[in-house]
This record gives sequence, C-alpha cells and structure tokens, in this order.
Amino acid sequence: MKSVPHFWFEPTPWVDGQWRRGMGEITVPNPATNLTLATVMRAEEELIQQAIEGADRAFAEWKRRSPVDRGNMLKRTATLMIARRDDLAALLSAEQGKPFAQALGEVDYAASFFQWFGEEARRSYGRVAAHPEAEREFFVEHKPIGVAGLITPWNFPLAQGAKKIAAALAAGCTAVWKPAERTPLIALAMAPLFTEAGIPKGVLQIVPARGAVVGKIFAEHPAMRVLSLTGSTATGSALMADAARSIKRVSLELGGNAPFIVLPDADLEFTAEHVLRLKLFVSGQVCVTANRIFVHESIEHEFLEILSHKLKNSVVGNGLAENVDAGPLIHRQACQDVDALVSQAISAGATLVCRNSTFERDPSLKEGSFYAPTLLSDVQDTMQIASHEIFGPVIPVLRYSSVADAICRANDTPYGLAGYVYGQDMTRCRAVARELEVGIVGVNEWRPLKAEIPFGGIKQSGIGAEGGEEGLHEFLCTQVISMPKPDLVR
Ligand code: ADP
Repeated sequence: MKSVPHFWFEPTPWVDGQWRRGMGEITVPNPATNLTLATVMRAEEELIQQAIEGADRAFAEWKRRSPVDRGNMLKRTATLMIARRDDLAALLSAEQGKPFAQALGEVDYAASFFQWFGEEARRSYGRVAAHPEAEREFFVEHKPIGVAGLITPWNFPLAQGAKKIAAALAAGCTAVWKPAERTPLIALAMAPLFTEAGIPKGVLQIVPARGAVVGKIFAEHPAMRVLSLTGSTATGSALMADAARSIKRVSLELGGNAPFIVLPDADLEFTAEHVLRLKLFVSGQVCVTANRIFVHESIEHEFLEILSHKLKNSVVGNGLAENVDAGPLIHRQACQDVDALVSQAISAGATLVCRNSTFERDPSLKEGSFYAPTLLSDVQDTMQIASHEIFGPVIPVLRYSSVADAICRANDTPYGLAGYVYGQDMTRCRAVARELEVGIVGVNEWRPLKAEIPFGGIKQSGIGAEGGEEGLHEFLCTQVISMPKPDLVR
C-alpha cells in the first residue's frame, strides 16, 4: 500500500511566488474512503483579481525572454516531475482515486507536455508575405496573446493543467490556473517545482476557487486575453457566454460520446482487453472513453463472453493498494448519476451481463465512492445511456448488422471528440475511421492521445486543440506589419 507523501507545499493559493491566505475552505477527501486528506484555502474575488494583475505585470518581462530560455524552464519542469514521480503519483492517486499505476502514467504524460512545448517554444514561425505594391512587403508575426486563464477538471488534474500551462508559457503568455475544487492539491504541489525550474514569480498563478466565480472574473478582466477550459459541455457553454461580453478568445475541451466500432474481423481477445482497459481507465471518467461499443451481430455472443470473463477477473479497490485495475468514482453523487443511467437502460430492455464488486471485500472502503464496473448488452440508441456521457465504468454494447449503419449511428450525436475502430483489415479500418465525425480516432489503439499531436473535439465537444504545433497557436495572436522594402539601388 502506497502512503500519501508529506506535503512539500502549502494548501493555499499561490500568487506572485507566495503562498497566500484564502477566505473559504475546500475539504479534499480521498474518494476511496471519503476520509479527509486536506483542507485547502479558496481564493476569493480579490485574490483572483490580484493573481490576474500579477500575471499581467509578469507578462511584460516573460514575453521578451528568449523562447529558448522559456523552453529550457519547461524542460526542467519535466525533469523535476520525473524525479518526483512517485510522490506526485501517490498524491494524485489519493486525491483523485485512480490506481497508483495510472497516476504514474499521468505524471509521465503531463511531463511529456512540458518536454514537448519546451522544444516547441523555439519553433514559432512567422513569414514575409508579398505586398501588392512593388515597393512594400508584409511581415507576419505570431506573438503571445497575453494573460491566459486556465480552468481544469478533476479527472486528469495534473495532465490537463500541464497541457495548458506548457503551451501558454512556451508561447510567451503568463497564466492563472484554476484547478477543480475536488483536486487542488496536485496543482499546488507543482508550485515549488515551477520555482525550482526557474519560472519567475507571477508567470504562473494557482488559485483554487469556485468555477462560476472564476469564470466571471476571468471573462470580465481586461488583462485576461484567452480562456482555456477542459470540462463539461454545459460549463463550456456557460464560459463562452461569459466570454462573449468582452469578446475573449476561448479554447474548449468538452464532453464526448465516443463510439467504439468492433468490425466483424476484429481479434476479439485483443479488442476485449482494450475495451476493458479503456473503460477501467480512471473508472470511465474520461471524456474520450468509449461510451457506445458497436459490435457486429456475427461476433457479439463470443465477444460478450470474453469481455465478461475479463471484467469478472479485474480488481476494483483503493488506488493506493497494489495491483488495482480500477478505483472509485470522484464522489457519491457520481455513483448515483451513473446508476440512474444503468437503471434506466435495464428498465428499457438492456441486459445486465455482469458486474464486478471486488471492492466490497475490503471493509475500509465501505464509505468510498465505488461503482461496480458493469457490462450491458442489448443497448439501444434511444436509451439515455447511449446519448449521455456516462462518466463511469459501464460498458454498453450495441449490436449492428451493417458497417454503414454502425457509422451512421456512431455519428448520430451532438458530440465529436474521439472514436475507436478495431479490425484486422487496415484499409477498411482507415475507411471507417475517416467517416467518423470526431477529432481523434484510435485504430486498434485505446489511448491515442500524445503530446506530439493536436487533440480537440468538433461539434459540441470543443473549440481549438491541445498538443502538437497547433497547441501553441491557442496562445498566440497574429500581427502584420506593412513596411517599405529597403532599396539599395537609389
Ligand atoms: P465536472 O462536472 O466534471 O466537474 P465541470 O465542467 O463542472 O466538470 O468542471 C470543470 C472545471 O470548470 C472545474 O474546474 C470547475 O470548477 C470549472 N467550472 C465550473 N463551472 C464553471 C463556470 N461557470 N465557469 C468557469 N469554470 C467553471
């Protein structure tokens, strides 16, 4: 059993390089036991305003730094994270609930964004463009946009922050980071690492605070130039409405309803293993997780048998314990919400194939926020479970008879974040993948997201992209200077 490390940070807002007293308090429990881990001070309006103003002052100097310097600080942050990966992962597992091994994966994944954008910082290119008048020319330059407001959720509290911070700081912006109220500790734990990496005070401020309060202040403050949120579609819509009043740029990573298409020639053992890993990953509380598993009628029976065997043999328990495949949900309400979807599906005709309640064997988890991973078959498109983001470890299997029909049904949703295609004929897999109206498709791969590529949704799943070279552009604005050409002849 891993233990929670002694805190090397204060559980209070971090503004202008100092731990600051907040006003209210946030109680942070370990969702596996619901025992209190820490009490964190919340930043109220005045401190949030100060954080924005401090970031604005720091911007004047940070934007003039050489991109190589900025990049080196980000790469040092990555190195420091890897050096402390065990401590960071134990804290993350305790606060979020995910198994320690998944938390280690998140630390590495988060560090990869500091590494990637540390390298990308020096690759911001403008251009010289032709002017219609012979004696003039255009200079097109990409410049940091200003202070960025970064709002992150509790499912990947470290990685979602890392994606935004690394891109913003690489671009030359300064930032105010508002972590989710459920998971402020891992955010505050990063503050001493940023300082050690050489990032000057004020360049990154960390303010645990209420979402709606922060959204309004970020949207109204004139120094705030871009708002980047990862959260639900409803929150994205509320933030966009707030931002509309002052015409601020928004970058939104929102909800999904990912289809997972199992083609008739798929390797069923391999596919079932990947479906299970995907659905147990953070207990299904992932915007890109598979929400609807479309399985061809010719293989459905065998596929369900293999999958239920695997599901029954996995272990659900305390994330800090050894060899756990899935942890709890974030809170009790989440369990009730997932259960409502499952109950509605069953009463509308879905079949409960199996459940895994291994966590019940451990009495210390009695008060924890656990939901038994559940396999459902005979799920119909019209059921709520097929149209709502489940955000829990439920595997709904939907039968299909023609691939064209499966594609049509897969696209019949207002979301467009991720999709998965499993099969052995790569030409066919690629053809199916290209038809899916989503931002990213994994072919025989359940975790395609990496720092090297742009990830972003279409339709109601978001605006903009994170990662890749595109990630930098969320934090840059374009300026054109029209100049007379130098003339040596005259
Ligand atoms: P979840 O339901 O998964 O918690 P949310 O979309 O509610 O997802 O939360 C994601 C992040 O957005 C959190 O940091 C939350 O505090 C913040 N948030 C919630 N409501 C608003 C809002 N109206 N404006 C800005 N941020 C918000």
